[in-house]
Amino acid sequence: MELKVNSQQIDQFIASQIAEWPMAAGNFEALKGVKVKEVALPGWTVKVQFNPARIVSSSAKVDAKSLKERKCFLCKENRPEVQRGIDYGKYTILINPFPIFPRHLTIPDRSHTDQLISGRIADMMTLAAQLDEYTVFYNGPRCGASAPDHMHFQAGNSDFLTLGEALESADLKTVATDGDAVLAVVDSLPLKVFVIDATDPAAGERLFDRLYRAIPVPEGEKEPMMNLLCFATPAGVRLVVIPRKRHRPSFYGTEGEGTMLLSPASVDMGGVFITPLEKDFNALDADKILQVLDELCLSASEINEIAQNVQ
Ligand SMILES: [Zn+2]
Repeated sequence: MELKVNSQQIDQFIASQIAEWPMAAGNFEALKGVKVKEVALPGWTVKVQFNPARIVSSSAKVDAKSLKERKCFLCKENRPEVQRGIDYGKYTILINPFPIFPRHLTIPDRSHTDQLISGRIADMMTLAAQLDEYTVFYNGPRCGASAPDHMHFQAGNSDFLTLGEALESADLKTVATDGDAVLAVVDSLPLKVFVIDATDPAAGERLFDRLYRAIPVPEGEKEPMMNLLCFATPAGVRLVVIPRKRHRPSFYGTEGEGTMLLSPASVDMGGVFITPLEKDFNALDADKILQVLDELCLSASEINEIAQNVQ
């Protein structure tokens, strides 16, 4: 069976869920009033969003014990009855009732299986090509996923993020090719990333696998730490791979001078930093964001070393 969805169908689905689910409706409505400010970094303007409803996610306990003690909110039997889903092969498309984006989806696997990306890049690219107004994203189990025990993508309207635009004027250095698919490294922005441009998801996945094997896996982990963003382009799809070396910044916390409740994931890396506390919203400036990127992401020399190890 060939799977087909499109942005208009999903927009209607979101509208109908909002109409029948007061809790989600309240959160989507509240999102319209959240404060946003812009912060200019070299080559890239990001936004900071003050979003009190996200405190649940930003302070989520994702250690093994906490996960074992809670009911998985992505499993069908634990989801509220009002939350309907669209079947999409081995995935289900749901609205995210705690949105960051004006249009925000969660896309769990239908079975309760670990958050691991291997073997799923073609799925991600196929979905991003069909949902051409959306960016499909993936948070690694230690890179912002609040359900690292249940595989899921998320998606949000692309015009909300700013990294895609910054990449358009950045310098992409080709690392490897597969047919007309290209893997490139970008080391000129404050955020160091890889980019895979592909028309054929299978070729895109093969290139990703070569990159994946070149990124070190931290001890005790099952995959390299990363955030992924994937969106349609006029030529096909673009996958942005953001290797990570740390989950939360050194100043993460709620108590004490200089702490911030900041738990960056794909959306932050995509150009929208989420602060559930107003004091953090006010304090987060360009210097602090650059410090976050330095601590959590790779340096130019680190990302180029990986590029050299791609076989
Ligand atoms: Zn589950």
